[in-house]
Amino acid sequence: MTRYDTVIGLEIHVALLTQSKFLCSCRASFGAPPNSQCCPVCLGLPGTLPLINEKAVEYATKAGLALKCNINHYSRFDRKNYFYPDLPKAFQITQDAFPLCNDGYLEYYVDDQLVRTAITRIHLEEEAGKLIHSGESIVASEYSLVDYNRAGIPLIEIVTAPDIHQPKQARLFLEQLRLLMSYIGVSDTKMEEGSLRCDANISLKPSGSPVLGTKVEIKNLNSFRALEKALEYEEIRQSQVLDSGAKVRQESRTWDDRAGKTVSMRSKGDAPDYRIFPEPDLPPLNLDPVWVELIAASIPELPLERLNRLEGEYGLSRYEATFLVNYPDFGELFLELADSGLDCKTVVNFLMGDYARLAREKGHLDSERIAGLFQILDERLISQTQAKEVLDALFSSPQTAREIVKDKGMEVVGDPERLRPIVHQVLEANPQLVERFKLGETKLHGFFVGQVMRATQGKADPEAVNALLQEELVN
Ligand SMILES: [Zn+2]
Repeated sequence: MTRYDTVIGLEIHVALLTQSKFLCSCRASFGAPPNSQCCPVCLGLPGTLPLINEKAVEYATKAGLALKCNINHYSRFDRKNYFYPDLPKAFQITQDAFPLCNDGYLEYYVDDQLVRTAITRIHLEEEAGKLIHSGESIVASEYSLVDYNRAGIPLIEIVTAPDIHQPKQARLFLEQLRLLMSYIGVSDTKMEEGSLRCDANISLKPSGSPVLGTKVEIKNLNSFRALEKALEYEEIRQSQVLDSGAKVRQESRTWDDRAGKTVSMRSKGDAPDYRIFPEPDLPPLNLDPVWVELIAASIPELPLERLNRLEGEYGLSRYEATFLVNYPDFGELFLELADSGLDCKTVVNFLMGDYARLAREKGHLDSERIAGLFQILDERLISQTQAKEVLDALFSSPQTAREIVKDKGMEVVGDPERLRPIVHQVLEANPQLVERFKLGETKLHGFFVGQVMRATQGKADPEAVNALLQEELVN
């Protein structure tokens, strides 16, 4: 029995995959030499004016639609002022009072339960630069380097309602959100490169109480694991504080991955006053409803829809369908193969088996070459064991499965019309043994199979030979 209810809300920053930055025409790509992708606009030099990148608005709108939000036809930009070396303008352009999207939700599975987390809002803003400290932290550093390539890249901030109730659920939410963003193609969602980042709020309240407890914000959660671990740590820490009769301090904490704990950054009293006011250099956004409709029409099948379809229409298990949804490249390949008439279970077992290992090392085969392998298996040209050898060869040569089998001389003779004369020959060459068999010496069956195998240099399909012998000897 738990004494406390956990209440978690998330704020997720997603870098949008536009070619140029949000408010200038600098390239937005990752990994260029430091400070090689900056201009007077993103460096905030006096006299420059920003211009909105339409693609960023399109991607933010697409994200909002995929998260079932209202898309506000009027939204506005604001200046959030603060001094920090990663912010060359000393203010960030964001959306405060009038965000682009609000009131959406995301559905996902926690264990076998479909749950829904409300999305309070999504707004557009610009990214800050990147600081590289010479030491472990800014305080322990002799000097810090700053790279403004990242400054001005478009971001969306997605804010959830505080309706997540366990650390694991928070992780599953974030995993599903990441998958959704990659399905709609608005972000590369690489947590390790910072294009998907998450902050979490967590508070505890007495079980069943309607009053929320004091919340603590955790920053610097750079992986799914860090998110779950940090929240688990905070649950324990806060429950111990409450058990001791003390109050939880409202503060920001950071996750120290190496120490495996959260560390206090600043209390609420130290929080900066951002002096937010409407951005004078940008007009409000007035979206044309027809334009929004066009974006809505461009949204592909989303992860949960695909999961439902794979289970419902293709009869896959949750486990199989989840695999294909989580690895959309495998999912696409499955759909191509299954829609070409191949048996769904055979295809999914194949894709999740040896194929998955080989494809991860060497990249995918195209669906036609895979279908070719299924075809010759279906014709019983090769055995299941030989299929593994052919599969290996498919990854290292441009040949079709049929060509590989021919070149290696490995085809199995499974065609009864080709095998029947050989069976006849064997039986005619051994009339006495046939007599003995008919008188009840059934163990001679194995001898006849062996003779057929010898006559075909081992290429006869044993099952087909069995069936033919049965036919010839019993009748
Ligand atoms: Zn620029």
